[in-house]
Amino acid sequence: MVGLKPARKSVKLLTMTSQTNNFDVIIIGGGVVGAASAYELSTRGAKVLVLDKGDMGYGCSYGNAGWLTPCFAMPLPMPGQFLKALGWLMDPESPLYIKPAFDPLLARWLLRFTLSMNKKLMLQSVAALTEISKFSLTAYAELAVKFPQIQFQRKGLLMATKTQAGMEAALEEMELVARHSIPGRRLNSDEVKKLEPALIGDILGGVYFPEEAHAEPLQVVKAFLQGAQAAGAQLRPGVEVQDYKIEGGSIREISTSAGNFRADQYLLATGSWSTAIGKTLKLNIPVMGGKGYALILPPLEPSPKIPLMLVEKKIAVTPRTDSLRLAGTLELVNQDFSITEKRVQAILRGAREFLAVPSTPEIRETWRGLRPCTPDGVPVIDRSQKIQNLVIATGHQMLGLQSAPGSARLAADILLNTMPSFDPFSFRAERF
Ligand SMILES: Cc1cc2nc3c(=O)[nH]c(=O)nc-3n(C[C@H](O)[C@H](O)[C@H](O)COP(=O)(O)OP(=O)(O)OC[C@H]3O[C@@H](n4cnc5c(N)ncnc54)[C@H](O)[C@@H]3O)c2cc1C
Repeated sequence: MVGLKPARKSVKLLTMTSQTNNFDVIIIGGGVVGAASAYELSTRGAKVLVLDKGDMGYGCSYGNAGWLTPCFAMPLPMPGQFLKALGWLMDPESPLYIKPAFDPLLARWLLRFTLSMNKKLMLQSVAALTEISKFSLTAYAELAVKFPQIQFQRKGLLMATKTQAGMEAALEEMELVARHSIPGRRLNSDEVKKLEPALIGDILGGVYFPEEAHAEPLQVVKAFLQGAQAAGAQLRPGVEVQDYKIEGGSIREISTSAGNFRADQYLLATGSWSTAIGKTLKLNIPVMGGKGYALILPPLEPSPKIPLMLVEKKIAVTPRTDSLRLAGTLELVNQDFSITEKRVQAILRGAREFLAVPSTPEIRETWRGLRPCTPDGVPVIDRSQKIQNLVIATGHQMLGLQSAPGSARLAADILLNTMPSFDPFSFRAERF
């Protein structure tokens, strides 16, 4: 794996593979986190098997906005947002929504989410998420040299706003990430329109982050897996892990839809499925699905050339080679993959306020994914306290793509028992 700090070579590997176990590490889940980990581990010499119950990369990693933007390394619970969030939660067309229903998991999650809205924790989380995202951005630039199909482009990111409140929110974000050396520039209305002439209507201003990038998310997963395979990893799509045989506080064997497998260690990278799997393992992994939608449209006339955040609508716009992706909304759900037309229409209506989206656009694809959301907005990347040979890497909320190489680096450091490349404190499992 490429990146800022070279990882130390594992000296333990030669002794790690026992006589009976065929693999050093079995990775459960072939989304971007599992795929990046497979690449990291196998290029560091580990013998890896990746299992996914579906096609690899077709979970939440398939159709996300493709942003590699450390300027957005924010945890979901932000202090001062409580009342706003409450208002949003009640409105089925808002950017953040919860369908009223009693669900004990959701109730516990929301309580913890509310408690996480404090400034000290937020600043600590931003520091951890920014660090891992900055590392990852550099890693992606290097990955793109080997795998140009990921379509890595560094065009920056423009936050466009129409209201004073939106402008203030954008400036606050700019100031927050400036502390982590992420440069942003305040722009007036004319400067915003000059930078992105496809924006229409009264734009009040915006903030431009020139160093941010974007890529094609599914191609990223494929590139990681291709790299991992070239380094000796085995990939088994269509294999569901169904049960775990635990002996002496370790996983002895896993049962899958294609038979039993053994490894010295296991990496759980199952995104929004992690809570249910955690239950099977008697572990508390509080991950709710943050359902979001992405719509693929043909290019608009005129069509944006750089990624845009339509601030008031919380809609992400990503230009693609022959189309445009609009992504947005976050609906807290527990494994509900249904598509709500009302929310799809809300994205189109919101985008239409900023861009020339036709009244009945051709929608080439409507996709939804469940962002794996922990209540404090920070992933869990840690060795389980209860199961010695299990490492967990999940809960990457809105940042899984942009932080995957860094997450993979830390997960591999833990698995291979090398010095952690990042301060692991914010990512520890025992906080839940
Ligand atoms: C609309 C939208 C826009 C987004 N935009 C961005 C963005 O611009 N930038 C960014 O960084 N992030 C973005 N995200 C978030 C990002 O997509 C996620 O954080 C990321 O994909 C999570 O990756 P993952 O590998 O943890 O999960 P997944 O990609 O969901 O992978 C988990 C895998 O585990 C497998 N699995 C589950 N259970 C089992 C089992 N029992 N056995 C075997 N396999 C199993 C699943 O099949 C799945 O493939 C966005 C998300 C959405 C919804």
